[in-house]
Amino acid sequence: MGICEISLARRGAISYDSSDQTALYIRMLGDVRVRSRAGFETERRDSHPYIDFRIFHSNSEIEVSVSARNVRRLLSFQRYLRSSRFFRGITVPNSSNILDDDYNGQAKCMLEKVGNWNFDIFLFDRLTNGNAMGFMVQEDYHSQNPYHNAVHAADVTQAMHCYLQEPKLSQSLTPWDVLLSLIAAATHDLDHPGVNQPFLIKTNHYLATLYKNTSVLENHHWRSAVGLLRESGLFAHMSLENRQLMESQIGDLILATDISQQNEYLSMFRSHLDRGDLCLEDANHRHFILQMALKCADICNPCRTWELSKQWSEKVTEEFFHQGDIEKKYHLGVSPLCDRQTETIANIQIGFMTYLVEPLFAEWARFSNTRLSQTMLGHLGLNKASWQGQQREREQRAGAAAPRLLPQEGRPS
Ligand SMILES: [Zn+2]
Repeated sequence: MGICEISLARRGAISYDSSDQTALYIRMLGDVRVRSRAGFETERRDSHPYIDFRIFHSNSEIEVSVSARNVRRLLSFQRYLRSSRFFRGITVPNSSNILDDDYNGQAKCMLEKVGNWNFDIFLFDRLTNGNAMGFMVQEDYHSQNPYHNAVHAADVTQAMHCYLQEPKLSQSLTPWDVLLSLIAAATHDLDHPGVNQPFLIKTNHYLATLYKNTSVLENHHWRSAVGLLRESGLFAHMSLENRQLMESQIGDLILATDISQQNEYLSMFRSHLDRGDLCLEDANHRHFILQMALKCADICNPCRTWELSKQWSEKVTEEFFHQGDIEKKYHLGVSPLCDRQTETIANIQIGFMTYLVEPLFAEWARFSNTRLSQTMLGHLGLNKASWQGQQREREQRAGAAAPRLLPQEGRPS
């Protein structure tokens, strides 16, 4: 696909190089309807979601009366395809069995250790035939993304599960909190396009406009999660009020994963810890801790064993560099960390660990000073030392080859 399509397809840049154009169109229909129903404030963290596919809005009587055509307009791309094949009477071999269909002994055995911090999600993904996330959630992740795919979602969910088992949390959380946290973890990057917010802004992507350039991706993940939950009917048995509360709280958790807001969350966390005033009997405090836990789960890759952590580092860098390649090709200005000519995995990881991961996990360990926290900090230290070792070697090699050309030159600050 060429640049024309990128700029023309205001809806389409999200998957400019994939076959998901139809999905975007379907999603856009949903979003446009949303936009026409209510204006969008830039700050929506505490509000009930306005997003509402009108059909599913009020009650089940309306749901029953919707036509097949209307229902299909609300489906995600993959399910849309499947349903249109169904309506056309075409049956296709199911290439994406959910967990139960293709569940072998090894995967089952592994799942018993899902609360273990050394859990190898990549192995689990292979054992389950690429269904680590399971259920309908993984269909709304883009498997072509090197990093932001269903395996990352499964990994974050597994980490969240570990945090929920920590004594301070397990003693105070309600079943509602646990359910909410796991759903938010599983859906926190739903329909991620594999490019970052600055890219969406500079390509005039419709999502950037829709969310006024603020937490664009996170808002989209949340709205996608809400759409998915409504479509699934998972909470159809709950009252409208409770469903709305669930959706709003899922939004609070997902929006907290916006890394550009990290300092605000971190200083709030730090102040609470300094004052020692966190009271987990208080629902607001509990939900704040769940936000912090999800933030930790989302960026815990450097706290895993080196073997796992290294794979994640390679995947995320691949995604960054892919974005950089597109930016170069279309003269969009290469985003920081995205230039494969000047960046290295080691540099990216060292910066990421120093400025984002270490400060967050240091506070988390103050809050929950357990063996798990010490294990995570231990891996973090070792992994950083490994990357620093690689970086030194590289610099020495570069220095030996061309003494005047430092690898730092030309790197965006
Ligand atoms: Zn994530």
